Amino acid sequence: MILYRGSLKSCDQSCIYCPFSKQKSSVRELERDRAQWLRFVESLPERTKALDVHALMVVPYGEALLHPWYWEGLARLSGMEWMEAVGAQTNLSFSVEGALGTYLGAGGQVGKLRLWATFHPEMVSVEAFAGKCAQIQEAGAALCVGAVGVPEGLGAIRRLKEALPEGIYLWINKMDGLKRSYTMEEKEAFLDIDPYFGRELACPPSDASRCRGRLFVEGDGKVRACNLSLPYGVGQYTWQEPPPMPKCKRRVCSCYLAYGGRDDPMNTILFGRYPLFRIPRRLRAVFFDIDGTLIPRGGSSIPAHTAAGLAGLAREGVYLFFATTLPYGEAMERCRGYRHLFAGGVFAGGAHIRLEKKDGVREKFYCFDGGIRHHLEGAARTLVYRSGEGVYKMTLLRPRRRPWEEREAAGIWEAVPASCRGSLRYFLEGSCMQIVSAEADKATGASILCQWLGIPLSEAAAAGDSKEDEGLLRFFGA
Ligand code: SF4
Repeated sequence: MILYRGSLKSCDQSCIYCPFSKQKSSVRELERDRAQWLRFVESLPERTKALDVHALMVVPYGEALLHPWYWEGLARLSGMEWMEAVGAQTNLSFSVEGALGTYLGAGGQVGKLRLWATFHPEMVSVEAFAGKCAQIQEAGAALCVGAVGVPEGLGAIRRLKEALPEGIYLWINKMDGLKRSYTMEEKEAFLDIDPYFGRELACPPSDASRCRGRLFVEGDGKVRACNLSLPYGVGQYTWQEPPPMPKCKRRVCSCYLAYGGRDDPMNTILFGRYPLFRIPRRLRAVFFDIDGTLIPRGGSSIPAHTAAGLAGLAREGVYLFFATTLPYGEAMERCRGYRHLFAGGVFAGGAHIRLEKKDGVREKFYCFDGGIRHHLEGAARTLVYRSGEGVYKMTLLRPRRRPWEEREAAGIWEAVPASCRGSLRYFLEGSCMQIVSAEADKATGASILCQWLGIPLSEAAAAGDSKEDEGLLRFFGA
């Protein structure tokens, strides 16, 4: 996805906190902005072969959608087969009929149009703003709506939430100039409006390795990874090939345009393939791997930003499940503090499935004959996990400094009689060789949980980063 910001700096509204408020552009400045945008639109189709671009959002300093050339350019790009979504940030001050007329007249595909509409309560009435949102939605475009979390604006934002058509997400951005922390009451009030407001208050530490697949292109030709990072040096990177490691000196990814475009699983879980448009997926169940996904490798707990995403999902009534190779007890210990947000999950690599609801617990174990242990004696220390009399997982544990190699594990596996091997499988995790039933895997476990809850697979998703997650991710079409 590419974000584009031209040289335009003018706006028709006059919000007190905005440096572009009521700023006017001269004819010459507008002409320059138009020429830059058209050059960008013309050059994108050629570059996309190398860059693999499929979405574009215009993120202007002022209000771009008052100018027909932006609509014409978006329309032209939306007509490209490889382009899946085009859009812009806007204050919605344009005439919906006129603007969509220009867009459609220029061949624009309304199903690919995504708008990020910011509500300024002091500039427009709730009714007028919500009415425009309804018009846009009825025309077939998608949009999100939001406002800055100004405590004094709470009343108007609440009214907007009520007035918006069903299904439109209303986000809240933290107020940078607040000069104090939000009170508990204010935080709760904004969380009631936007369950993901907590992510704004716990922005993640910067990590440029998560920003290689994104570009922020400016009208004058400067290219960065995101709006907060340093530009690549002129001539060093001409965005004709995949971007190099971003130059980022930020300590924190402190706004949505920064953190929302990072390659973080929570972004795609919440907002799909192009999270920067901020249009939610509205899932009913989500499965999370623990190590490397919820808890970063080498870390000991779930980071605050991830936890805020989990809390938002739980607040919306989404079923959260673990999908882990850890046994239940260890998983609960690793995620203590957050387990109350989860309704069980798939444990021990799929050998143990557990659904926890207010009215009780439902479980299924895939057990196997623990007698195979005798064939493995001497190979390593053996841990056996049982449910009643049945064994559902066996771990051959070596010292940490001696991780298993596939060749060694295959040799040991040969010692198990062929009649048993067919009904079992093994996988390696560092110094652990895990043995479970051949029927057990994370995808099967997730499908059983969805079935128990009557949730169609199209309304569930998963996040994971290990080899054991590949089947699970494929299963949910990730
Ligand atoms: S500030 Fe921007 S480039 Fe730097 S790590 Fe955050 S999102 Fe990436």
